[in-house]
Amino acid sequence: MAELEKEALRQKYARERDKRRRPDGNDQYLELKGQLAHYAQDPYMPVVPRAPRTDHVTVAFIGGGFAGLVTGARLTEAGVDDVRIIEKGGDFGGTWYWNRYPGAQCDTASFVYMPLLEATGHMPTEKYAHGPEILEHCQRIGTQFNLYDNALFHTEVTHVEWDGDRSVWVIRTNRDDHFTAQFLGMGTGPLHVPKLPGIPGIEDFEGHSFHTSRWDYDYTGGDPSGSLMTKLADRRVAIIGTGATSVQCVPHLAKACRELRVIQRTPSSVDVRANHPIDPAWFATINTPGWQDRWLHNFTANQTGGMVEEDLVMDGWTDLARRVRSKMMSIPAEEFTPEGMLAAYEDSDFEKMSEIRNRVDEIVQDRETAQQLKAWYGQLCKRPCFHDDYLAAFNEPGTHLLDTDGQGVERITAGGVVVSGVEYPVDCIIYASGFEVGRDHTRRAGYDIIGRDGLRLSDYWADGMRTMHGTHVHGFPNAFFVQPTQGANLISNVPHNLTEAGQTIALIVAQALAGGHDEVEVTQAAEDSWIDLLLSGPGGFGILGSPDCTPGYYNNEGQPRAQDAQLLVGYPMGASAYFEYLEQWRTTGTFEGLEFR
Ligand code: NDP
Repeated sequence: MAELEKEALRQKYARERDKRRRPDGNDQYLELKGQLAHYAQDPYMPVVPRAPRTDHVTVAFIGGGFAGLVTGARLTEAGVDDVRIIEKGGDFGGTWYWNRYPGAQCDTASFVYMPLLEATGHMPTEKYAHGPEILEHCQRIGTQFNLYDNALFHTEVTHVEWDGDRSVWVIRTNRDDHFTAQFLGMGTGPLHVPKLPGIPGIEDFEGHSFHTSRWDYDYTGGDPSGSLMTKLADRRVAIIGTGATSVQCVPHLAKACRELRVIQRTPSSVDVRANHPIDPAWFATINTPGWQDRWLHNFTANQTGGMVEEDLVMDGWTDLARRVRSKMMSIPAEEFTPEGMLAAYEDSDFEKMSEIRNRVDEIVQDRETAQQLKAWYGQLCKRPCFHDDYLAAFNEPGTHLLDTDGQGVERITAGGVVVSGVEYPVDCIIYASGFEVGRDHTRRAGYDIIGRDGLRLSDYWADGMRTMHGTHVHGFPNAFFVQPTQGANLISNVPHNLTEAGQTIALIVAQALAGGHDEVEVTQAAEDSWIDLLLSGPGGFGILGSPDCTPGYYNNEGQPRAQDAQLLVGYPMGASAYFEYLEQWRTTGTFEGLEFR
């Protein structure tokens, strides 16, 4: 691509980004509280009355998604038979419990996305499994590892406090439970609190409305397996938002609704999905001991720029990384500087995004709609999307893109949505407006954690997150955080971070129990040196979440980040190196940096 052409693209990207910048950042969104609280209610399962628990367990784990399941499973294998998972949904599954919208499927290949496949003997039916299969897999893990007996569903933790005299965590919930646990795990995930767009008039709408993570099948008909939503045949529906969720459910809505308006503020980049069923005969050829670990490490190495020959997964994620790698390899030795590498990355990204924009022209028939569906930013500025039917949905006669030119919906009235001064009457508004991401841990979790000597986690982290491995926090003995930040920070396949953490925690707990220790805690020195190590890396958010990007949750909605955000990073040597390091750290048996007492 000629330099002039590149400069024109840079300017186009900047113009499109500037249209979308707004001073209110994360504050533009509404919490589901007060009059909006009903948007958060569980439409899937009734709350079953039960007596409050007042007992003691060895391990309590907050969150029944992948983090709780994989940690619980490994703990059960290690001989802990009273793991108690506390979960606000009515069953295990986390994100897959709530997100039952039609078309929900994993965006990272099932073989690396779905945890404990080898341990459970499950073969995914598709390269990218759909939601119901993933939810069922969560239930399978729960059943196989006996995690149901002790679990508390439809239960939210309200208070967690360390009792140093007894060396236990005291836990209270919104169901009047008041019990103790020797160890505490937390895996509440970054994307579990739905949010609504702060559109004026949102409370005035008199039609039906719901958030995608609380899909109302009573209203739409159909079911999570994607069968036709017959009750929408005479309905005019608007869906607000065109992120990864919308991309997956719009094709289903387009088939079902009398009229569908897809309201867009920023187009997603939508690349080829190429999903296909898994052939059991082929699966038998890879299903040898250790297969899932091999796949996980191969994907991570490919995806994060490792020098690996083989690409087992072969998809949009690894393609992205392979392209960048091959551009880097072609840099002449004298230009192999940080600037030279950034230029090579930009070249690769321009090529990829041009392909993605050309794909829109190939699929979408209406020229104006096609133009509006094109994403003008770097592929990792926003969550990359992959779908084979999303763009084609705009060829359905009843489906219309309502592009807001970066401005969003102007107003909601009793009977519809207003965009650029025009009111569009609708019967139903579906909010595909995402989840609270750019908020602090305490707000997202819904409780603070009170550690040794009354130390609150929110105070301890007031100037930024501080951990060792993203898991252990000084002042919070016997507590473990299961999440990616300050560990591998592998965003393209979050479950890999969780399975590694779960395995590690099970070993630590087993060691503490076997040694008769009451407490295990990271030392201040070990935590400090881990933070120093993290800060010695390139830092910042690099390409993912760059301030040059169009606003979104990857870059704090385009707002400058607070100084403490420099700590929201991963191991400086990369995800693969982190997993290698962690494997060595946990198998030595000394768990350097932890104190057992
Ligand atoms: P997102 O936050 O990605 O998208 C929210 C959408 O709402 C955006 O298109 C946003 O526009 C739009 N929006 C917000 N406010 C307004 C407004 N006032 N007017 C019009 N539009 C508005 O949420 P999603 O639920 O789509 O996805 C969240 C994350 O969940 C993903 O990024 C991904 O990590 C995960 N996910 C994963 C899936 C998988 O792996 N299978 C599937 C689905 C989601 P704008 O872009 O301009 O802000």
